[in-house]
Amino acid sequence: MSSAQSLNIPPSSSTVQVSIIDTTFVARLPTGHFMGPAMKGFEKWTPVAYAFLIKHVDSSGEERSILFDLGTPKDLVNDFPPKVAERVKGMGLIIEAIIWSHAHIDHIGRPSLFPTTTKLIVGSGIKQAFFPGYHTATDSPILSREFAGREVTELSLAEFNLEIGGLKALDYFGDGSFYLLSALGHAIRHLNALARTTENTFIYLAGDSVHHLSGLRPHGTNHLPQSVPLPGRGHCCSGASFHAIHPLSDITTVPEHYHDPLDYPNSTPDTAPFFTVSQKPTGETLASNIDDARDTIKAVQRFDADENVFVVAAHDASVRGILDLFPNKANDWKLKGLKEKGRWLFLCDFEQALKVSRADEIRAPLPRKLIW
Ligand SMILES: [Zn+2]
Repeated sequence: MSSAQSLNIPPSSSTVQVSIIDTTFVARLPTGHFMGPAMKGFEKWTPVAYAFLIKHVDSSGEERSILFDLGTPKDLVNDFPPKVAERVKGMGLIIEAIIWSHAHIDHIGRPSLFPTTTKLIVGSGIKQAFFPGYHTATDSPILSREFAGREVTELSLAEFNLEIGGLKALDYFGDGSFYLLSALGHAIRHLNALARTTENTFIYLAGDSVHHLSGLRPHGTNHLPQSVPLPGRGHCCSGASFHAIHPLSDITTVPEHYHDPLDYPNSTPDTAPFFTVSQKPTGETLASNIDDARDTIKAVQRFDADENVFVVAAHDASVRGILDLFPNKANDWKLKGLKEKGRWLFLCDFEQALKVSRADEIRAPLPRKLIW
């Protein structure tokens, strides 16, 4: 069954050019803030931040370009980095719109560096929560200059009049080349997007619906492999060696409020992700709605299960070494086999966790240093 059928993506021969922009953000952040249950030896993870340049050309040759997210501000106190704007300016592009997947500081960049003709498009509720920005709204995390003099368009729920892969969808260019998807849970009206890279292939922009890919895979379609492939370097180890650090290997060590979200007892370490969205026993969580956030992850898994859809999460450093980054286009991902090459690279982040687990079956340490 093709993607169009299994995910209910309307057929179209219209595509967009996708460029993945590495906004050069790198950090070490506490894993438990984002994912749970806790894994010894993986107390911190290393996110990056991608922005996406989407270029559309219609049948009359008219070009339209938009940006999906802007990445992370460099100076969290005084300013945001002009890098993305500078690079795009250098290409002579006119950006008609910036779309924020959500309004967290590692996605909003600095719209005020763009001409006021560039619209800012946000999910519903964002204006109410953040407008018109600081100083006028004293508790807004966004400076008013980022909104000032600019059309800020809030997408209404009614505009999401399609359903793709179980998510409400909006056909941005009206020709099936680029869909915005309502991907609730992580933040107010969080958005994902689906870019048609060829007639039958797609890049799925997962925003912050998934942080580290160990919260997405393995799943019902992508089981842990018998041996873990490393691109160009053969195989590093058996998939089973990761059982030692999987929460479903010993459920007695896992806090009870994680049992259901990990699909215990129906799933196994081969078929369930290592993490779900983190939550304290008291219920405290980073997500704006944890049930929605977990449902959205299931939806992203449906897209991920399709060989014609390449899922890229905003902060996934594991595939950075294999992506065709801006100014190159990422449309040839399928031809280059990037989905297969990148699928299990996130496991390399578990080297320390495996050591800590003292699993006997590990034949060799994961050669992370050889990869990057
Ligand atoms: Zn976020």
